[in-house]
Amino acid sequence: MTTVTCIGAGASGTLLAWHLHAAGFSGRTILVDPHEGFGAAYSTSECRHLLNVPAANMGASEEDKASFWRFLGTQGIEMSPEDFASRLDYGRYLEQLIAPLRASGQVVRIRDRAWGLERRAGFWRVALERRRALESQAVVLVVGNLPPSSLPGGEVVDAACYVDEPWRCRLKEVVAGRSRVLFVGTGLTMVDGVISLADHPEIHMTAISRHGLLPLPWKTQDMMPMRLPEPMPGPRAMLRHLRTLAAGMSSWEPLINAMRPEIQTIWQSWTLLEQGRFLRHALAYWNIHRHRICDAHHALLGRLRATGRLTTAAGHLLGIEQQGGEVLVRWRPRGKTEERSARFDVVVNCTGPASDYRRMRDPLVLNLLGSGNACPHPLGMGLAASPRGELLDARGQLVPGLFALGPPLRGVLFECIAVPDIRKQAALLTRHMVDWLANRPVPASLGNETTGDYPDRRYQMLYDVGL
Ligand SMILES: Cc1cc2nc3c(=O)[nH]c(=O)nc-3n(C[C@H](O)[C@H](O)[C@H](O)COP(=O)(O)OP(=O)(O)OC[C@H]3O[C@@H](n4cnc5c(N)ncnc54)[C@H](O)[C@@H]3O)c2cc1C
Repeated sequence: MTTVTCIGAGASGTLLAWHLHAAGFSGRTILVDPHEGFGAAYSTSECRHLLNVPAANMGASEEDKASFWRFLGTQGIEMSPEDFASRLDYGRYLEQLIAPLRASGQVVRIRDRAWGLERRAGFWRVALERRRALESQAVVLVVGNLPPSSLPGGEVVDAACYVDEPWRCRLKEVVAGRSRVLFVGTGLTMVDGVISLADHPEIHMTAISRHGLLPLPWKTQDMMPMRLPEPMPGPRAMLRHLRTLAAGMSSWEPLINAMRPEIQTIWQSWTLLEQGRFLRHALAYWNIHRHRICDAHHALLGRLRATGRLTTAAGHLLGIEQQGGEVLVRWRPRGKTEERSARFDVVVNCTGPASDYRRMRDPLVLNLLGSGNACPHPLGMGLAASPRGELLDARGQLVPGLFALGPPLRGVLFECIAVPDIRKQAALLTRHMVDWLANRPVPASLGNETTGDYPDRRYQMLYDVGL
């Protein structure tokens, strides 16, 4: 039977499996993931963690964007289409989306971690941690949001005082009984943390990042009809163009909303040099305008800041160090030369998912790069690939049957991690994969789960000895 293995069963893996079968793929899709639930964003247990995209735009397909909103209605959750539902409910939506396919055996979910890949006689062998291997014709890397890079000094701070991966913990339980919390990072993960601790008046929160900028409020879904100049200008000219357009408007939000469907095309029209320049000079500003939060959460942050419960700062973190039951934190304020320090009970790493595959020690990443089956994107954002998600090997050649979707494509597509981008990309990749699979013979053994030892354990061993 034709088999596709998705490494990762978060939103990207689940949406891709759904798209494949909705498009008539009659084989089997295996989703491999060591975790229950649906990835970092939708496995939260906090119902106050809200989506940052309105409910009526979170459906699984472009053709039916409102299907999540209708699902909420079937669960007795009445809200306006422009409202922001909980991420917990989005996890439930993904679960019911895939349930019929799981029940029929077309989609199989295996709880395990993939650590290696090998191409053999026209099919892929995916090695799993529990020493099994899966065979399939195509493999899709949907490994998503990889854990953040550790803060300097964080490796030797106790887990009771330092949260390295905030999406996988209950912050309230970690902080319990203590009062000084530092968030390193001022983006959406920090907002989650603040929301979790907001109703504990004894807790004082500080948030620091290089620019000290907080996400802006959503305000409106309206889009301004816009025509972008052709050919697409470089980042400097694009920003100038946006400023001119915004100057003639009462608010800039409809302009940024209108950019959403265009940004991948604009990004791909720039040279690597221009993309790098945009990341260096404009990314922090782009992020707070583009990835906005619901107005209620924005208002809450404002109240917490006004009452002194939340302090924000701009600066460069120099290091964290455990001293007894507290953490000494050193940083350099933005634009200053002198160093500052302060003590906190708990430090939370909110710097966001790591995306530089060149620095990762994850066994699967080591295996992919070490074998030459994949290559890091030159900007240090995910993997090198074609715009539709076919991976490129170390020689820059397309790797037959090896694909990626979602966050690993950040360098190629830039804006590709939110559900509206993922579902579009999933539909595109599905069309390509269905054609590609139709033209490939199915080896007799395909789809078998083998128990034999995976032959090349070099990369696993490197990981085991901590290299
Ligand atoms: C906290 C947070 C909130 C967000 N909120 C929103 C939102 O409101 N709206 C929106 O549109 N987007 C939001 N996003 C963006 C988010 O990236 C996407 O919506 C989506 O969750 C990405 O899904 P994914 O499956 O690609 O990645 P993930 O959700 O990270 O899932 C990847 C999965 O791959 C698994 N995996 C990794 N390595 C291996 C391996 N070696 N073997 C097997 N499995 C592996 C992981 O265990 C994980 O379950 C949010 C992101 C975060 C982090």
